[in-house]
Amino acid sequence: MEFKLNIGPSDSGERVLPMAEDVLYDVIIVGGGPAAQTAAVYCMRKGVSTGLITMDFGGQLSDTSDIENYMGYRYITGVELASKFREQVRQFEIAVLEGKKAVSIEDGREKTVRLEDGSAFKARTLIVTTGKSWRRLGVPGETELTGKGVAYCAICDAPLFAGKRVIVVGGGNSGIESAIDLAKIAEHVTVIQFLADLTADKILIDAFKAYTNTTVLYEHEVAEIKGVQQVESVIVKSRTDGSVTEIKVQGIFIEIGLVPNTSMVKDLLDLNEFGEINVDCACRTSRPGIFAAGDVSSVPFKQIIIAAGEGAKAALSACEYVLRES
Ligand SMILES: Cc1cc2nc3c(=O)[nH]c(=O)nc-3n(C[C@H](O)[C@H](O)[C@H](O)COP(=O)(O)OP(=O)(O)OC[C@H]3O[C@@H](n4cnc5c(N)ncnc54)[C@H](O)[C@@H]3O)c2cc1C
Repeated sequence: MEFKLNIGPSDSGERVLPMAEDVLYDVIIVGGGPAAQTAAVYCMRKGVSTGLITMDFGGQLSDTSDIENYMGYRYITGVELASKFREQVRQFEIAVLEGKKAVSIEDGREKTVRLEDGSAFKARTLIVTTGKSWRRLGVPGETELTGKGVAYCAICDAPLFAGKRVIVVGGGNSGIESAIDLAKIAEHVTVIQFLADLTADKILIDAFKAYTNTTVLYEHEVAEIKGVQQVESVIVKSRTDGSVTEIKVQGIFIEIGLVPNTSMVKDLLDLNEFGEINVDCACRTSRPGIFAAGDVSSVPFKQIIIAAGEGAKAALSACEYVLRES
């Protein structure tokens, strides 16, 4: 099928196209965060036919309240920045498939991206920008009660727990930051820490200790989250003597870090010790024609501006590959 390009930005509205299974795209980008959207703009401005497949537009930006370190904005919210990125991408005639999950990639002269719904899309090159997701506990009740008292983002959801009793799992920086946010408004906050000490920065620990409505259970882990319509209690287990305690709470915030979304490529591409896709300085992975950028890649320092810059680099590398191979 012929792919007609209009590479210039339009002066009005959105120009996106649906993705088609019978088109061989020059580049398919998987993901919809800052890395993906920057890559999309660079690919479109280079005049290569581009498809973008994502579960959502925004990625982690949608979980970020205040941003003060993205150049050009002294202050902007994550939702506002995500909306500006989306608007910039959608002024091009890029093919977009939103709300869909890619589950595997097949490598060859053409690369195939297979989706959860069984559909498949082909391209000469791929850019993987699937970012990171909150690490889950993997205990009974967690999946069933997510959004019903089980939460992962205090910045997003803390206000829903004003006047309530909550648990925060994790004694690192994100756990203690969340515990502080919650202690300001909740009736009581219990921190469950796996280790014998909190591992957050001293400044955060000092700020946390100023609140009197908090408890820390050291060397404990969550065994089960209980509730029918909403979280009602959490079963915690001592790692020293195995004793079990049931704590009545209305909410539990799981703050044990983020994991790279690499299930789609884990058997295809080289990953580092953290499960991130190993890339070189041009965003090349271990497979020719497959590039990766942003938080999912081995590039250090997970920040919006870095993900965006890496997305630009991956796009330029992919465009160069297309030119060389065609
Ligand atoms: C609470 C919080 C606050 C933060 N605050 C800041 C800050 O103030 N400043 C800063 O610079 N950075 C901040 N960050 C970090 C920043 O948000 C990330 O570094 C950045 O979003 C990474 O962009 P990315 O495009 O690589 O990945 P992500 O933003 O993780 O986007 C990944 C995208 O891929 C999609 N996806 C994943 N798997 C699939 C699949 N299988 N199929 C299809 N699509 C898929 C997702 O839906 C998503 O759209 C913060 C992060 C968090 C969580």
